[in-house]
Amino acid sequence: MALFGKPKYTIVRLKKREIPDGLWTKCEECSGVLYNKTLEENLRVCPKCNYHFVLGAYERISTLIDKDTFLEYDKDMQSVDPLDFEGPKTYKQKLSQDQEATGLKDAAVAGEGLLDNKKVAIAVTDSRFIMGSMGSVVGEKITRAIENATQNKLPMIIVSGSGGGARMYEGMFSLMQMAKTCAALAYHHLQKVPYISVLTDPTMAGVMASFAGVGDVIIAEPRALIGFTGPRVIEQTIRQKLPAGFQRSEFLLEHGLIDMIVHRKNLKSSLSQLLDYLG
Ligand SMILES: [Zn+2]
Repeated sequence: MALFGKPKYTIVRLKKREIPDGLWTKCEECSGVLYNKTLEENLRVCPKCNYHFVLGAYERISTLIDKDTFLEYDKDMQSVDPLDFEGPKTYKQKLSQDQEATGLKDAAVAGEGLLDNKKVAIAVTDSRFIMGSMGSVVGEKITRAIENATQNKLPMIIVSGSGGGARMYEGMFSLMQMAKTCAALAYHHLQKVPYISVLTDPTMAGVMASFAGVGDVIIAEPRALIGFTGPRVIEQTIRQKLPAGFQRSEFLLEHGLIDMIVHRKNLKSSLSQLLDYLG
């Protein structure tokens, strides 16, 4: 037997590197790969490019309201289907699908709590639920929160994340919510307590054209898409090319539609300062 025989090789097939699902997220803006834990610790803001990811309604509340002080109103309010709407999917199917996906009953969460020890009423829309669109439930929850704030002279904060505007599945019933929420805010205004509107990516259409657009102070997160109609429809209507960055927070600040752009990590402290100043 030769001392140095032909070496024997074993072929080792390397398994494709397995990355468990749910550990990493790719940034939608800079395509950076982010460790989910880091992303959560950074309030779901990309540490590389500052892209503000969508936050769910309860996550948002936990970033703004002092721990264990949030009291939710009307948690189980659910939509009916007044038009018996049928499309590629029925309204009932859409509702149950998004209820399952988000754990919410509808696209808004409303209640009261302490913000830096100051009592406030707060409502948040969640863009993951039928694009955060406003149907009867969103409108009613927000209106009740405002009415409660009016009665108790509490500042009102509404954080909007609504790409969908008024919810077409409910036809006129959804359009009525625009007037209803704004009427409630008009009464709230008579009490001389502030209403602060916070716009997040995206805030569009019937939501922007109602309660989100009428804050005493209007704050937006950086680079949020904010507007009424999409740019393509506007270009077709006015037959003009729109400027770059149109409908982003920075453009709208420069043109006076909003008052401040605040990074998510400073949002609570900015709201707290505003409440001191306006209260
Ligand atoms: Zn990024």
